[in-house]
Amino acid sequence: MKASFDYLIPNYARLPMVPVRGEGSWLWDADGRRYLDFAAGVAVNTLGHCNPVMVQALHEQAQKLIHCSNLYSIQEQAELARFLTDEVVEEPGKCFFCNSGAEANEALVKLARLYGNAAPAADGSPRYEVLTFSKSFHGRTLATIAATEQEKVRQGFAPYMPGFRYVPFNDPDALRAAIQKETVALLVEPVQGEGGINVATAKFLSALQEVCAEHDLLLMFDEVQCGLGRVGHPCGWKAAAAADGGPELKPDAVSWAKGLGGGFPIGGIWATDRAATGSNKKVSDLLGPGTHGSTFGGSPLVSTLALAIQREVKDKKLAAHAVEMGDYIKKEVSTWTDTAITGVRGLGLMLGFLLQGEAHDGLTLSGQAQRKLMAAGLLVVPAGADVIRWLPPLNVSRDEINQALEIMKTTLTKD
Ligand SMILES: *Cc1c(COP(=O)(O)O)cnc(C)c1O
Repeated sequence: MKASFDYLIPNYARLPMVPVRGEGSWLWDADGRRYLDFAAGVAVNTLGHCNPVMVQALHEQAQKLIHCSNLYSIQEQAELARFLTDEVVEEPGKCFFCNSGAEANEALVKLARLYGNAAPAADGSPRYEVLTFSKSFHGRTLATIAATEQEKVRQGFAPYMPGFRYVPFNDPDALRAAIQKETVALLVEPVQGEGGINVATAKFLSALQEVCAEHDLLLMFDEVQCGLGRVGHPCGWKAAAAADGGPELKPDAVSWAKGLGGGFPIGGIWATDRAATGSNKKVSDLLGPGTHGSTFGGSPLVSTLALAIQREVKDKKLAAHAVEMGDYIKKEVSTWTDTAITGVRGLGLMLGFLLQGEAHDGLTLSGQAQRKLMAAGLLVVPAGADVIRWLPPLNVSRDEINQALEIMKTTLTKD
């Protein structure tokens, strides 16, 4: 690596690999080495690197109009909102666009606070508290670190923004007991990513819905990582529910980011058209003129690109492909006997491999495995101390998966 890296603030523990080119599931570094990229920008490269559908959408739109202000009516943004509402959530509602997952969750929290003003507590005081869950991750801004249960994300940044409280994930009784008069919303990852790939159970999902109905709370899903086909359905909550014979859920709001733009920054939320209690407004109309905004959010360029990607995911049935590949991977790994992998969890192409063994050199077990695999030509992402994630492009081939499985099997042997 060149000395110019000394000019970067050291907030990432960067690996000494300099990517210079990508194609599909493959990435090349500056030394000409080739890697199977199952990190995919942390679940971002939905169609892999430099997919022709993306390149064409970018090229064509870049020649017409790249950016203009949300002062005007951006047709491409409206088309993307229509697709996400009608073809993804499939419930009446509306969308807002920003530039990242943290920003999308910020918008959800602001929506919840407005809801708590429209529908206050019995004594008339506004409700504001958002409950989040153990091992959650919602972003790196001041509000979203306060929403994030993982202590390491908040360390050193006190005082934290008030209005959040943590409840154990997948614990219906703890959830029921946690509601207080200030509570106005629940924010949940249906499949937790950074927290180690934890799938919400059917019982928990049912409890979320019941508690929201009983206490007039907003049910908000953080689908930044698990949404848009990654776990085998355009809606991560539907995949999680279906995997456990669970309930049909109707969230009030959803956030997306990572896979939405395939690598071009975009975040977004969807909010329901149902009426806000105690108000003549729909929930989707609470964020009215002047309440929220984003200079870059939903530009013609990124909206066109995101729509092209999401159409491709639908047309090529990539969510179903994710289910098939996920099941195949789990089946293969279950036959391994001599590796440091003790199990696989997750859904579709959002999978966590559980590791056993001893960590050395001040690294976590997952950090150590990540380095060994990179040296062997496979890129993965740690999730906590003893889980590594596979988040390959949704159009990854069976042949590429077989190559990655072979690398895992021969590299992560028992010590
Ligand atoms: C990555 C992630 C975020 C934060 O997204 P950024 O684009 O990094 O701000 C929020 N929630 C979940 C579930 C994520 O995986």
